[in-house]
Amino acid sequence: MTISSDLFARAQKLIPGGVNSPVRAFRSVGGTPFFTKKAEGATLTTADDQELIDFVCTWGPAIHGHNNPAIREAISEALDKGTSFGTPNPYEVEMAELIIELVPSVEKVRMVNSGTEATMTAIRLARGYTKRNKIIKFAGCYHGHVDSLLIAAGSGALTLGKPDSAGIPESLAEETIVLPFNDLSKVEEAFAKYGDDIAGIILEPYPANIGLIFPKDGYLEGLRALCTKYGAVLIFDEVMTGFRVSAGGVQQHVGIQPDITTLGKIIGGGLPVGALGGKAEIMDHLAPLGPVYQAGTLSGNPLAMAAGITALKLLRQGDTYERLDRMGKQISGAIIDTAKDLGLPLQVPQVGSMFCVYFSEKTVETLDDAIATDTERFNKYFHSALEKGVYLPPSKYEANFISTTHEQAAIDKATEILCETLREL
Ligand code: PMP
Repeated sequence: MTISSDLFARAQKLIPGGVNSPVRAFRSVGGTPFFTKKAEGATLTTADDQELIDFVCTWGPAIHGHNNPAIREAISEALDKGTSFGTPNPYEVEMAELIIELVPSVEKVRMVNSGTEATMTAIRLARGYTKRNKIIKFAGCYHGHVDSLLIAAGSGALTLGKPDSAGIPESLAEETIVLPFNDLSKVEEAFAKYGDDIAGIILEPYPANIGLIFPKDGYLEGLRALCTKYGAVLIFDEVMTGFRVSAGGVQQHVGIQPDITTLGKIIGGGLPVGALGGKAEIMDHLAPLGPVYQAGTLSGNPLAMAAGITALKLLRQGDTYERLDRMGKQISGAIIDTAKDLGLPLQVPQVGSMFCVYFSEKTVETLDDAIATDTERFNKYFHSALEKGVYLPPSKYEANFISTTHEQAAIDKATEILCETLREL
């Protein structure tokens, strides 16, 4: 009996499935999840004192590594002044200034407490602004556990083999049009049929809750043009890609301006934060100026803002994104080369510090392609890497993340372990 397995046995009696977020339970890869007792830089220390090189990075937020000293100091300074005021505080203004400076399409921003809250508010705002009901989403894109978006979703919902959740009324699901990603003609058809009632399109511009998929050339431009033509709101869900793919997210990377952007993860520096921002004309439909209601007791929380502001400022230092991209290329390149030598069918989509490993002959462009990749091989690869000291996302549908604290030695070691793991498959 390990300390982790003992903790998990206790947790299962007290917490549904023993976890407070489903994908942590290792259901997809099998086995018992480990418990982490501390995390520093790129290393997790398990309850049983195993040290792991971490490529989950708390599912994206830890771009500056765990327990970053500058972020810790900012939280500590804020803590001296109090934990929550329930009035506006100066940090909120600085945070808004930073987001607006960094994210190209954002003119005004509202802070919330999670990515789910951000997307929930974004679609309510799109509906309130356009006075229309229907939302287009894409199969495999995950936008948090929002009722109308938990339909053909990726991430944990997919890992559990339940893209749809119980508890969502059919009448609500009918207002969500689910289309395959990367097929513009389907979106054109939907607009031709329901154009008058489509409030907006929400998408992960680089879907990363089914591994990592890139849009085909012209696809995002096509979505932008259709939304403009039909007066619908284009929502980029950059909860994962924001500040990750570049300081300004995918929209900066590809030069396309959505109307609303949802943000989360990195923006909180490891504390619970989300945000939505966009054109002032749309954002001003939110309460108290407009008729679309939204609120939060702890929104703009001073500790979370202090952490997030520091995380965003750190991104502007030096050659952060070039360095992250070099590391991403080193790992993905080595994995691809090793697989080639072994004759192992494998794809490694990578952008900057995000990548995923699909055991597949074919390039993955849709949810169906991702589902068709070899799950058994992935699970073996996951467990073998874990045994050797590398923690990968515990599902073939999740993306890997690298942080600025992954030193060259850690990247070299992890690369060696992952290649060794492939040879053993
Ligand atoms: N949107 C995207 C693209 C996400 O990846 C996630 C979480 N992984 C969410 C929304 C939901 O964010 P949260 O878990 O903070 O509610």
